[in-house]
This record gives sequence, structure tokens and C-alpha cells, in this order.
Amino acid sequence: MTARDHARPLLSVVVPCHNEEAMLPQFFREVIPALQALDADWEMLCVDDGSRDATLQRLLEQARGEPRLQVIKLSRNFGKEAAMSAGLDLSAGQVAVVLDADLQDPPELIAPMLAKWREGFDVVYAVRRSRDDDSLARRIGAHAFYRVFNRLTTEAERIPADTGDFRLLDRRVVERLRELPERTRFMKGLFAWLGFSSAAIPYDRPPRARGHSAWSYWKLWNFALDGLTSFSTMPLRVWTYVGLSVSLLSFVYATFLVLRTLIHGVDLPGYASLMVVILFLGGIQLISLGVIGEYLGRVFVEVKQRPLYLVEQVYQFSTPDNARP
Ligand code: UDP
Ligand code: MG
Repeated sequence: MTARDHARPLLSVVVPCHNEEAMLPQFFREVIPALQALDADWEMLCVDDGSRDATLQRLLEQARGEPRLQVIKLSRNFGKEAAMSAGLDLSAGQVAVVLDADLQDPPELIAPMLAKWREGFDVVYAVRRSRDDDSLARRIGAHAFYRVFNRLTTEAERIPADTGDFRLLDRRVVERLRELPERTRFMKGLFAWLGFSSAAIPYDRPPRARGHSAWSYWKLWNFALDGLTSFSTMPLRVWTYVGLSVSLLSFVYATFLVLRTLIHGVDLPGYASLMVVILFLGGIQLISLGVIGEYLGRVFVEVKQRPLYLVEQVYQFSTPDNARP
């Protein structure tokens, strides 16, 4: 790790936006001064991820007066992970930062992140000091997810708890990330997989000021499933062991039944125990089939090799409107 001596690196700020019309004016009011104050040149790439409100108009209004702002309109809603990929793919800076549009990722943190990058770290991620603002269910869910995920994955792929997508990346990390071919972009996991020297910066995550989170519990659950199934095959393998244990138990029980019949003669077999065994095994088979289906579905998505996102249009205005003749 060697310190970097770029006097003024180009910083690319990637902002995924989905239905953020209420948030954007305040976002730009706070972020642009924070960027101006940096010891770096910057460009901003706002990705309109299929918003159904006036997000695109808000972005374009801003872009007309700010040539460093690019607006990338995706053809529909592809999800935050794809929107981030779109922004990173089109970014040009030696450093990139992914920032939420709702100001939950404080822009003041970019300066210390950049300082860490100058020290030589390739990835600088922000870690939440506490999750006190989250609902109890969300906190328990997040905790359970990190536990399960980090149990099932290898040492190297472990994701640090309570990190979001708010992080700074060196150009070479961005390039390696772009080379990863998978369609299911579980970014936190991918970052962990990539490795590189990383540093953490603790911060307090403020609550969302306006608008609302696009993450319902159902979406979070599916996100967790995506994460687990794209990084671990344990759920597939576990059925081998379940099957083995059930077979072993049935063998023991069968031996007992045979011996009992030999010793005590024919007995009227119990309907209840038979029913329990049938239902139990039927249940196990359906669950394991479901797990196989889950993975098969992912293989299906991967082999189709559809693009991660479709860009409908990229807007960038070279000179501010008021400077035009
Ligand atoms: N977002 C997006 N596409 C989506 C959902 C969200 O680009 O389908 C953006 C959203 O505009 C915001 C960021 O991702 O900038 C984080 O979203 P949100 O605040 O809803 O998530 P949370 O902070 O609750 O995790
Ligand atoms: Mg948010």
C-alpha cells in the first residue's frame, strides 16, 4: 500500500435515484457545496432508475446549470444494484463514491474517505455506529442476515455488519467489479469478494428526510435470499445431510419394527404414525425441491445473459444555460 500523490484526482459520484423528486432539491443544495470544498475535481452521475414521479425533470433542471452532472435515464426500474452498476460503468474518475439521493449517506464523509484513499486504501466504506433509528423488526432481520450470511460464506467473503453501499472505490476496484459477470448483483458481497485494501469510517446514519424507503420487508427478504443464494451453496448441500439423517433414523425404526413383529407377532399398524411419517417426508421433499428450484431459477437468469440494465438516454449539458449566447 503506497500513498497516492494525485494533486486533484477526478471523483465520480454515483447517485441512484428512484422516485426521489421530494428529496432532490435539498440533496443538491447540500451535496454540491460539499463536493466543491473537496480537494478534488468531480463529476456526478445521477441514475434515474425508472422513477414514476418528476425525478427526471428535477435532475435535468439541475444538469442544465451544471456541466459536471450527467443524468442517466434507465428504460425502467431495474433496482438500486443495477442503477449503481450503470453509474459506475459510465464513471470516469480515479475514485468513485456511491451516494444515496436521500441524504442518508452524509456527504461530509466524502472528505475523510478521500483522505483514506490518499493514504493508499482502495476501498473505504462507511459503517453505521448504531441502528437505533431502524424498527425492531428491521434490526433483528439485519442482525440475523449478517449472522447467517457470514456463517455460510468463507472467511474472505464475509461482509462487515452494518455497511451499506456508501463507499469509495479506487478505479481499479471499479474495473474489477465491472468484470464480474453475474446478473444478481449483491454488491456488498461482491465488494467483499473483490478484496483489496479496505478501511472503515464509522458514522451515524440520519433518518430519511423526505419521501420513503423503497425497501418493503418483502423486498428486503428477497434481497437477503439473493445475497445468500448467490454466495453460498450451503442451502443446497444441507439436504444431503437431512436426507442421510432421516434415512438413518428410518433404518433404526424399521429394524425395531421387524424385531417387534418377529417377537410379538403381527400387530395392527398405526395409522397415525404412518400419516406423520408420510407428511413429514413429503414436507422435507418439497422444501428441498424448493431450494433446488431457487438455485435453478438463478442459473436460468444467469444463462440468459441479459444486460443488467438498459440506458434509455444520457443527458449532459456542456455549458450552463445562462452562459449560452
Ligand atoms: N433506489 C433506486 N432504485 C430502486 C430503489 C431505490 O435507485 O429500485 C435508490 C433510492 O432512490 C435511494 C437509494 O437507492 O437513492 C436507497 O434507497 P432507499 O432510501 O429506499 O433505501 P434505504 O435507505 O431504506 O436502504
Ligand atoms: Mg434511504
